[in-house]
Amino acid sequence: MKRAAWTVVLLGALAAGLGHTAPISALIIDGQNNHDWKSITPALKKILEADGLFQVEVLTAPPKGGDFTVFKPEFAKYRVVISNYNEFPDGSKWPAEVQAAFEKYVREGGGFVSYHAADNAFPEWRAYNLMIGIGGWMGRNEKSGPFWYFRDGKLVSDTSPGNAGNHGARTPFPVVMRDRRHPIARGLPEVWMHAADELYSKMRGPGENITVLATAYSDPANKGTGHDEPMLMTIAFGKGRVFHTTLGHDVPAMECVGFMVTLRRGAEWAATGKVTVKVPPDFPTAAKASTRPLR
Ligand code: ZN
Repeated sequence: MKRAAWTVVLLGALAAGLGHTAPISALIIDGQNNHDWKSITPALKKILEADGLFQVEVLTAPPKGGDFTVFKPEFAKYRVVISNYNEFPDGSKWPAEVQAAFEKYVREGGGFVSYHAADNAFPEWRAYNLMIGIGGWMGRNEKSGPFWYFRDGKLVSDTSPGNAGNHGARTPFPVVMRDRRHPIARGLPEVWMHAADELYSKMRGPGENITVLATAYSDPANKGTGHDEPMLMTIAFGKGRVFHTTLGHDVPAMECVGFMVTLRRGAEWAATGKVTVKVPPDFPTAAKASTRPLR
């Protein structure tokens, strides 16, 4: 065969191989969090790496008082970054150059997944709050942006004063899909029962370029707001895609098949703009939660 013909064969084989087998490179950042990040990171990794969809590396930031000059994530090596980092209560902000590198990475098209308490982090970092859309706690209030929730089936903002971030006791609750055409949401039941978890409410932020894929009713009988609160979101930041899930307080909550599937789909979409993850037969229904062991 002539050299040109061989090139076609080799490129074809390479493309076929990449299309089917190459896992998506992903980075989980942890190291500080008021949640049990040491048990949560391996659970996140297990969910993402199932079926070889992702290849996950973990970067653990230094502890409180540690040397942050050695904390230099190489964001550009990965298609998606998943944050399991919340500086509360240890208090270590990422250094300015890491913040700038992360902004550049997402702005230029990198994927980002804000997982549970990652939306508590960095209330004063403007670009980070644009990426997560809404956040809670850590001194956030009306200066951080309005409250965002659903009213009469539509996303509304509410400029009432007050602190951001609230949840009641952990209990199972129904998640309501609000956009079933988005690749992350396609084929999911309109309502599905989530395993016992915290239901975040009173979240505030800039809310720019945000698409709310799913909400849950925050029940006043469980310290709730009486609003349908955002649970799953996408946010556009420059050329970057962000998936924001408020779900998954601890490993038992992460064992919900609904959490796993939406995390895998959200991370895949953030990385590639596409979703190949199928809806499994054991996906929860409106009446019944469904779990798979992670421990
Ligand atoms: Zn929590």
